[in-house]
Amino acid sequence: MIPPARIRLEGVSKIYAGPSGMVCALEGISLDVEPATSLAVTGPSGCGKSTLVGLIGGLEAPSTGCVVIGECEISRLSERRRARVRREEFGFVFQSDNLLPFLTAVENVALQLALHGRSNEFERCTALLAAVGLEGHGDKLPDQLSGGQRQRVAVARALAHRPRVVLADEPTGSLDPVNATAVVELLLAAQRDFGTTLVVVTHDPTVASRMDRTISLCNGHLAADNAHDPTP
Ligand code: ADP
Ligand code: MG
Repeated sequence: MIPPARIRLEGVSKIYAGPSGMVCALEGISLDVEPATSLAVTGPSGCGKSTLVGLIGGLEAPSTGCVVIGECEISRLSERRRARVRREEFGFVFQSDNLLPFLTAVENVALQLALHGRSNEFERCTALLAAVGLEGHGDKLPDQLSGGQRQRVAVARALAHRPRVVLADEPTGSLDPVNATAVVELLLAAQRDFGTTLVVVTHDPTVASRMDRTISLCNGHLAADNAHDPTP
């Protein structure tokens, strides 16, 4: 098994050129997330949470500082190589499920594996869907599923290739409490079962309390950093 990945940020800042001038979305962030642990990222809207996730996941490069995932300094890579690392090392879950509407649930998961050169794994995809509580729903199109079911498909897809890091940006933001709990438990199972390092952006204190540690951002700065024992 590939060893779990540490996430390390050193002096990271991100400045965007906005229509009314420069926006400093993050400033001087240093952070060390132990391999195979879970981190909640909280803070008010606009404080830089999604920017942080985007930098960790190599969706964009920092303006200053460095981002290291495992043994790879992702912030130094070209866009092309970042894309490869993203595909191989990361699973992403967003607030909106981003499923392809013209593919069935099982096909949406299978596409993720196909990107890793693993086609003909329909049985495994069906098993993955069963593991997220969607047995018998594999042949449905996204619009035949509820919001909670669609988000569970999105989680199955994000975990299909057993990524070393899962980044979830408000994954429960549009779910009711029952579905929110189900999605969080699935993400935590990946941490427990195959050593995924998990980063979850959330406004929900209950979701945050399930993680090993919570950081809070405020105006692009690290405002708080608390380790806690997740309550079972
Ligand atoms: P959060 O996820 O905490 O709501 P974001 O990381 O999305 O915050 O945004 C942080 C700040 O950066 C905000 O002021 C936002 O408007 C700005 N920002 C984010 N992305 C861009 C972008 N691509 N271009 C310009 N400004 C951006
Ligand atoms: Mg955001």
